[in-house]
Amino acid sequence: MIAGKTAIVTGSTSGIGLGIATALAAQKANVMLNGFGDPGAIEKLRKDLAARHGVKVVYSGADMSKADQIADLVASAERELGSADILVSNAGVQHVAPIENFPDDRWNAIIAINLSAAFHAIKHVVPGMKRRGWGRIINIASAHGLVASAEKGAYVAAKHGLVGLTKVVAIETANSGITCNAICPGWVLTPLVEQQIEAKAAEAGIPIAQAKQELVREKQPMLRYTSPEQIGALAAFLCGDDAATITGTTLSIDGGWTAQ
Ligand code: NAD
Repeated sequence: MIAGKTAIVTGSTSGIGLGIATALAAQKANVMLNGFGDPGAIEKLRKDLAARHGVKVVYSGADMSKADQIADLVASAERELGSADILVSNAGVQHVAPIENFPDDRWNAIIAINLSAAFHAIKHVVPGMKRRGWGRIINIASAHGLVASAEKGAYVAAKHGLVGLTKVVAIETANSGITCNAICPGWVLTPLVEQQIEAKAAEAGIPIAQAKQELVREKQPMLRYTSPEQIGALAAFLCGDDAATITGTTLSIDGGWTAQ
């Protein structure tokens, strides 16, 4: 099902996105990587992924906060890989602050990258998916797409919005061979979360290892982090034929966070 298909994974130079790109490449999908980072390190990543799995891997440095660059990203995936069959909107950023101090520029950036980028990318991939009668759209939301936490106003608003957008796209594409779902992870140990661990350790004057444990304990009954590889496996499942009628839903992978 996945072999020979092409996948765009936004924000895949690190963390969850890289886990998903790797899982899809392992199932023989050709992949377009996207995200920021050291150009040499990204080129090495691209080459290694292609060589390890015998697939075509290309890279776009499109800034997902810019609508015109998102249009270019989809166009270059279609040009360089032949189509855009799978879209994983994963690029995301975080900022933590009480609402009255929340900087306007951080609000705008989070809404643009974590929410509007998925709208722009979906808009551009859907026509080709409809023409080919097959598509998989996966939005990486969060437990924060389902429930809230203090000081994450922009992130929670964006992720709730992304869950809503997921449902609309699923309904609109229901009879086109396309599915659209949202994955809602709890804590996954990535650079995005490492920043929050470091901030917590500094604020509370505690060692990093303790902050890492306490962060999970605050929210999750299960006291362990999900890995990017586990998120990748779930995304790959959603791309397969067994998931052909799963659409318009949220899949929690959150150690029981949202069961409470
Ligand atoms: P990460 O910081 O490791 O990776 C983020 C990726 O997005 C990187 O590749 C980065 O270069 C890219 N990116 C950031 N801004 C971009 C932009 N403007 N244009 C293009 N790429 C950009 O973070 P992560 O933890 O892997 O997060 C990935 C997604 O998973 C995010 O949407 C995040 O909200 C979500 N998520 C993460 C967790 C977690 O615990 N880590 C939990 C739930 C949801």
